[in-house]
Amino acid sequence: MFVIGCHLSSSKGYMHMAKEALSIGANTFQFFTRNPRGGAAKPIDEADVREFLTFSKENGIDVILAHAPYTLNGCSKDADIRKFALETMADDIRRMEYTPHNYYNFHPGSHVGQGEEAGIDYIADMLNTILYREMTTTVLLETMAGKGSEIGRSFEEIRAIIDKVELKDKLGVCLDTCHVYDAGYDIVGELDRVLTEFDSVLGLKRLKAVHLNDSKNPFASHKDRHEKIGEGSIGIEAITEIINDKRLRNLPFYLETPNELSGYEREIALLKTLRK
Ligand code: FE
Ligand code: FE
Ligand code: ZN
Repeated sequence: MFVIGCHLSSSKGYMHMAKEALSIGANTFQFFTRNPRGGAAKPIDEADVREFLTFSKENGIDVILAHAPYTLNGCSKDADIRKFALETMADDIRRMEYTPHNYYNFHPGSHVGQGEEAGIDYIADMLNTILYREMTTTVLLETMAGKGSEIGRSFEEIRAIIDKVELKDKLGVCLDTCHVYDAGYDIVGELDRVLTEFDSVLGLKRLKAVHLNDSKNPFASHKDRHEKIGEGSIGIEAITEIINDKRLRNLPFYLETPNELSGYEREIALLKTLRK
């Protein structure tokens, strides 16, 4: 089955997102757990969640992906910023249990000059504090473009974090096609080699989701600006290979392209025609 969706606004709750996803031909979706800049989350509406759990089962909505606010930085050199990231993620993970067995994706963070080793240690410490054995959610580390001092620019950096986390079975990886291409992994010319490298460094069994984006910038630019599918430097041919690759095709794909709902609907329809 082709599991494809896009990023949706969570402001009107789970049922609203589920119906919106179906209305544009999607069978999954991504959403921010709260305002992407951080701040308080709306209380969980238990009736909405109950209705959603039934509705998603009846309508074949597959695993959904929550995205942490992108401003969290669990490896800042500022202790208050680290504490805020830890508390926000711990709260998000607690809230995720209302919709069990889904994914929670986050950006590892930026070490802001302390060096990647210190950053990696802080991220692992944070995960060791907030992960717990009974949780059903899988926490995904997102591959990053490597702008500024971002951690997660290489598969090795993500591996180094996972190595230091005790509850490794709670962790997975989300591969963002724009980010890895900007980071210098040539998924256009050498998809096969990149996936082989991913497998040898991280293990393909850790790969749980794909953020499917084109890139506004050239290969290895370390920029992170998403482009509409087929309109960027990755291009439609490489995107077609990605959605059909035997190692990727059973993963959920989430569009984070610069689109309104109607644009997402068109991209999903296009991708369905390209799916073999
Ligand atoms: Fe992201
Ligand atoms: Fe992404
Ligand atoms: Zn991005």
